[in-house]
Amino acid sequence: MEKLIITVACTGAMTTKENTPYLPTQPEEIAEEVLMAYQAGAVIAHVHVRTVDHKATMALDRFEKTVGLIREKCPDIIINMTSSGGLGFGDEERILPHTVLKPEMGTFDAGTMNFYRGVFTNSPEFLEKLGKAYIENGIKPEVEIFDSGMVWNAKRLLKDGFLQAPIHWQCCMHVHGGMEGTARNLVHLVDSLPEGSTWSAFGCGPTANLIMAMAINMGGHVRVGMEDNVYLSKGVLAKHNYEFVEKVQRLAAEFGRPVANVAEARQILGLPPRN
Ligand code: ZN
Repeated sequence: MEKLIITVACTGAMTTKENTPYLPTQPEEIAEEVLMAYQAGAVIAHVHVRTVDHKATMALDRFEKTVGLIREKCPDIIINMTSSGGLGFGDEERILPHTVLKPEMGTFDAGTMNFYRGVFTNSPEFLEKLGKAYIENGIKPEVEIFDSGMVWNAKRLLKDGFLQAPIHWQCCMHVHGGMEGTARNLVHLVDSLPEGSTWSAFGCGPTANLIMAMAINMGGHVRVGMEDNVYLSKGVLAKHNYEFVEKVQRLAAEFGRPVANVAEARQILGLPPRN
C-alpha cells in the first residue's frame, strides 16, 4: 500500500460555535490549527473561511489572509481550498478564489444533492466551468463524492475533458442526503472508482472512526477535523484539530500503515515539490 496521506479539515462551512466552542473561524486561528495538525502529521490543509461573525463565506480577502498565514507557518503543506464554501454561493464567487490564489488543490463536488435541510447545487454548467478553471490554473481537483451517482457523473466529466486522470477522490460519507457511512457503502464507492485513482475518505459524526479505520486498511487516505466531526470519543469534544491527526497516527501505527510526509504525499498525488 502507498503511504497514508492525512488531510486536516479544521473549519468547514456547517460546523458552528454551538456545536463546539473550539471551532477555529478566524484566519489566525485557522492557521494556528493547521500548524499544530501539520506538526502532528497532516500534509494537506482543506481550507474553508468564515466572516468575522463566523458565517461561511467565499470572500476572496478571507481566503487570501488565511492561506497567506498558513503558507507562512507551513511553507510546504498542500493547500486544498473548498469551491463550495457552504450552500447557496454563486458560480463565479465559488471559482474566483481559486483563479486568483491558485492553490495546489481544490474541491470538486461531483453532483447536486440535498444536504441536511439545504440543497447543495453543483449544476453541469458549474462543474464544467470549474473543471476548466482548474485545468487552466494547474489546480488538482479533489473530486468529492457523497453518493455513488457522483462517481458516474465525474466519469462523464473526465471523458468530456473537464477532469484529468488520475483523479483523486474524497469519499464524503454520512451527510444526510448522501450515502450513509457504512462499511458496505464505502466498499461499493471505492469499487466503482476508475483504475489508477487515489482516494481518501471520511465519515461524519458517529461514523468517523469506522470510515477512518477502513480507509487506512483499504489503501485509501484519510481526512479528519472539525468540519466533519467534533467528538474525539463519545461525548468528548476535541479541543484542537491535531487531536484527530494524532488518532489517525495511533491507528495507522497499530495497523502497520506508514504515514506520508509532505514530499511523499506530493509524489503520490502527482503534485510538484514546493520550493
Ligand atoms: Zn469542505
